[in-house]
Amino acid sequence: MLNIKFLDLLKQQQSIKKELKTGIKSVFKHAKFIMGPEVSELERKLEELSKAKYCLTCSSGTDALILSMMALKIGKGDVVFCPSFTFPATAEAILMVGATPIFVDVSKDTFNLCYKNLVENIESAKRSKLMPRAIIAVDLFGMPANYNKLENIAKQNNLSIISDAAQSFGAEFDSKKVGTLGNITCTSFFPAKPLGCYGDGGAVFTDSYEIKNKIKGLRLHGKGEDKYQIVDVGLNSRLDTIQAAILLSKLSIFEWENNERNRLAKIYNQELKDFFKTPLVPKKTKSVWAQYTLQTKNRDKVINFLKENSIPSMIYYPIPMHLQPAYREYSKNILPKSEELSQEVFSIPIHAYLSESEQGYIIEKLIGLGKLYN
Ligand SMILES: *Cc1c(COP(=O)(O)O)cnc(C)c1O
Repeated sequence: MLNIKFLDLLKQQQSIKKELKTGIKSVFKHAKFIMGPEVSELERKLEELSKAKYCLTCSSGTDALILSMMALKIGKGDVVFCPSFTFPATAEAILMVGATPIFVDVSKDTFNLCYKNLVENIESAKRSKLMPRAIIAVDLFGMPANYNKLENIAKQNNLSIISDAAQSFGAEFDSKKVGTLGNITCTSFFPAKPLGCYGDGGAVFTDSYEIKNKIKGLRLHGKGEDKYQIVDVGLNSRLDTIQAAILLSKLSIFEWENNERNRLAKIYNQELKDFFKTPLVPKKTKSVWAQYTLQTKNRDKVINFLKENSIPSMIYYPIPMHLQPAYREYSKNILPKSEELSQEVFSIPIHAYLSESEQGYIIEKLIGLGKLYN
């Protein structure tokens, strides 16, 4: 009997057991649990990996988004555009800095922002009393948005681009790596993300010296040159040294894991495309497949069938942000594609430790089902 896992962090842990032990042991030895040497070592490594000029780690992906908007002085009276079909943190961060979110629809092919709907929303926001300031583009399920299109739109409207790359670290668009695709890129090291630690963590990337300096202070209570000189109202938002050590150990398998998920995604796409709506990868785009997400009009039946056959699946996301009770006040638009997706999507296992026979079994079962329903 197969025991298929949606995600297998235990197998991953076993594969880097030695590195993890050595890394954590050395943190205990020097006992610099906050801002220890592993933190800056990781930041230099992530700069190398992403080719971004500056990387600063922080305590979560959510904080990375908040710190970015604080650095851009986005706040009360400002508008930030973001997709409705996303993880709640994207929108939550906008409200946490006091700004107003405007929810934009997404594409059913890529799950990323619909550029036409974005422009429409920018135009109508310009006619309001609020000040449009930034676009948060989410690279949903690991696939970068089209940043060439976004840059054009941002330039024409004098907006900053914040890339919510919580799910896409390691991916590429137009030969540029995630980390260099927006004015500021935010990622998360939540365990289930492509580069996850064993707790909470996040990072910001930018090529701007000014933004880097701002965020460097903001994550330490707004500290200036001197520890007790406070130049901004900041946060306590640091990555633990132990988590940095864990991430350093994980870098040795990061590229391999991304390649494995790409290999699995290709097989899924090929085998399942006649039976379900499979994800589209646009030209010039390389995903890291944080999730592999299919669409069907018969989701309840599909999910039940998968359960009966011991195939784990997840629904990301069952309610788009503009329909969430807490965000009703900001739900001015009808966003048909986000609403349809929330009823039709389901994600199936895609991790580097999924065996050939496990993937084969998932495909066989899904094809049998697809023949029935689609
Ligand atoms: C996970 C996630 C976040 C938040 O990251 P945390 O580290 O959990 O705070 C933000 N945006 C998206 C799209 C995410 O998937």
